[in-house]
Amino acid sequence: KMMEQQNAEIREKMSKIKYKIAVISGKGGVGKSTVTVNLAATLNMMGKSVGVLDGDIHGPNIPQMLGVSEIQPLADENGIYPVLSPQGIRTMSIGYFLPDVNTPIIWRGPKASGAVRQFLSDVNWGDLDFLLIDTPPGSGDIQLTTLQSIPDIDGIIIVTTPEEVSVLDARKSVSTANTLEIPIIGLIENMGGFVCPECDKVIDVFGKGGGEKAAKELDVYFLGRIPLDVKARVASDRGIPMVTLDCKASEEFKKVVGQVLE
Ligand code: ADP
Repeated sequence: KMMEQQNAEIREKMSKIKYKIAVISGKGGVGKSTVTVNLAATLNMMGKSVGVLDGDIHGPNIPQMLGVSEIQPLADENGIYPVLSPQGIRTMSIGYFLPDVNTPIIWRGPKASGAVRQFLSDVNWGDLDFLLIDTPPGSGDIQLTTLQSIPDIDGIIIVTTPEEVSVLDARKSVSTANTLEIPIIGLIENMGGFVCPECDKVIDVFGKGGGEKAAKELDVYFLGRIPLDVKARVASDRGIPMVTLDCKASEEFKKVVGQVLE
């Protein structure tokens, strides 16, 4: 009964959102959250209304990346309100409810996905063009239950890094998407090349074309390549999405989003 009521609430809230896109990766540290935040910021700069749901219950870093980690969400009898980033992106994260960022959370699958379900049923996202979901890394239970707890996801974006080994990880993401019968929008190669802080040229540390090759092998669309950019990382750690800066990574994000919108 309670479950049915929650499902009804989720359906009602989600009906106001045009597109729900999950961002996933086969392992941690490839820049999945960074990519999620910057895709959101790019869409926002293009005039779209955007929300970001931090589905990473164990390492919630979306609030910090959007510069709102000190803010607590408002709530009233109608539910919880998303925290607005300075850019105007609506966000929700378990991080807002922790006493401090160092508090470990050791919830297992069902409880973790329960939290995500509550973010869908109780948060007043309002009308949105896009809701981007930062999915927990890996291919385990938590990733699956998180994705399953969100009804009618329109598509999945896979994030990988250029080394050969990460193709294997990307393959796990493809099979997760296939298991759940969610269409794959495409693959983004993050940290493909390194932007030289001296000359601004991109140096191909891992060689070129790894992401494209991986996309071909996995039979998914290649959305683009985001270089490793030191300037961008410093900004990101301070809560400023790199796409709001004038940098190489910013240009690449714009190209990627252009393709997603097509
Ligand atoms: P994940 O979500 O996959 O665990 P994060 O998004 O947290 O990874 O990124 C890990 C670290 O790498 C962060 O410090 C982030 O700022 C940095 N990072 C990610 N992508 C880039 C990039 N393209 N350029 C510079 N730094 C990046």
